[in-house]
Amino acid sequence: MRLIVIGGVAAGLSAAARARRVDAGLEIVVLEKGANVSYGACGLPYYLSGRVRRAAQLIVYTPEYFAKERNIAVRTGAQVVSISHPRREVVLDGGERVHYDRLVIATGARPIPADRALAALPQAFTLHTLEDVEHLKLFLREKRPKRAIVIGAGYIGLEAADALRRNGLAVTIVEQSPHVFGREDVALTADVRERLERFHVELRLGERADDVDGYDLAILANGIQPNVALAADASVELGRTGAIRVDEHMETNLAGVYAAGDCAEAEHLVTGRPAYIPLGTTANKMGRVAGANAAGRRERFSGIAGTAIVSVFGLGVAVTGLSEAQAQREGFSPVVARITARSRARYFGGKPITVQLVADARTRRLLGGTVLGEDGAAGAINVIATALYNRMRAEDLQDLDLAYAPPFSTVWDPVLIAAQQLSKMV
Ligand code: FAD
Repeated sequence: MRLIVIGGVAAGLSAAARARRVDAGLEIVVLEKGANVSYGACGLPYYLSGRVRRAAQLIVYTPEYFAKERNIAVRTGAQVVSISHPRREVVLDGGERVHYDRLVIATGARPIPADRALAALPQAFTLHTLEDVEHLKLFLREKRPKRAIVIGAGYIGLEAADALRRNGLAVTIVEQSPHVFGREDVALTADVRERLERFHVELRLGERADDVDGYDLAILANGIQPNVALAADASVELGRTGAIRVDEHMETNLAGVYAAGDCAEAEHLVTGRPAYIPLGTTANKMGRVAGANAAGRRERFSGIAGTAIVSVFGLGVAVTGLSEAQAQREGFSPVVARITARSRARYFGGKPITVQLVADARTRRLLGGTVLGEDGAAGAINVIATALYNRMRAEDLQDLDLAYAPPFSTVWDPVLIAAQQLSKMV
């Protein structure tokens, strides 16, 4: 039995590693078109800013490690150009054909192409791969740009702005929607704007950047799209989001062919419908399930809530589930509670933390939340995400038994304060 995995980063390698744990006798081959595997793309903005000093620090495991410690063959520079499922084989760009019994597609995503003329400019860069950042760092060293424009205020755009500012550039972010972080949330956008302005970053919302005249550097961060052409050409079905459609076992419409990570959809825990929210955390989990099942298990992926966090000049901005606007569109009757409290005791350096919760007035069910704060945002959003996972109601959340000691928290945790307020409203 041979398992072929296409793609050697988060989803692909999680799948391969899990398959090995499930079946010690399976032959496992990972085919990766790039030169590197197993690197943390999430660390790229920090390599750009200089907070991570060497690229090697971002590489978690090497092909040698996988060969020696896991008995997994990882081939770099191996691009799959087609899949023939009737023959159970993949074809590499040099013409080599490799047979599979089971297949995991983990081809990831790529930046949505910007306007051609814009993308062709020598000062225009994307921030998606290690190579992108190496090119960008070289450009910063050699050309010493002074003014940068970042197109897109999603988390990559926000992280890029932070990193460039730390490199001493004047930065403007231009975003065509009226919101940042892909979240339809007026209050969150206002808080992020205030933070950016405090660090002298200009934010222009509701604008399209058709040219970048007057800027020495442009970062194209206008979103990403799933790499699905290879799968679609092999009659793997795509879902309405445009990503690969999978069932709860991560299996595609073709028996024995699985997909995971940024190339695939996942079920949204709140709406119950397929969603495309590509993130490293979920890529790893989807990969694990795909790998286990490709090796003969029948495991389930529970779905996603879109939980994410970004640091904007030290301010943790975190989201999970639905915003009020999304909830309305989904047919819920949302009510919103928003409080600002302290992350821990004042005498232990507690910082303001804002928690917003959204619940459905009819069922009292929690639908989503946001947290903003310099301290404690990750912990707070994870409590809310856990509540979503367990389909909790507002009053269930206010009763949670959360930890308290002055160096860490407050006797009334900010999430509980928000939940108390919410319970009075639903
Ligand atoms: P990818 O990492 O895209 O890997 C897919 C691999 O498949 C690639 O190496 C590609 O070369 C290979 N491949 C594609 N086609 C072929 C082919 N035909 N043949 C062979 N190989 C192929 N997520 C978070 O959760 N938190 C964060 O803080 C965060 N920060 C990020 C910051 C940046 C700058 C970026 C770019 C992403 C960030 N992410 C973050 C997202 C996270 O990195 C991705 O969700 C994750 O890498 C997805 O993993 P994947 O394995 O599905 O896809």
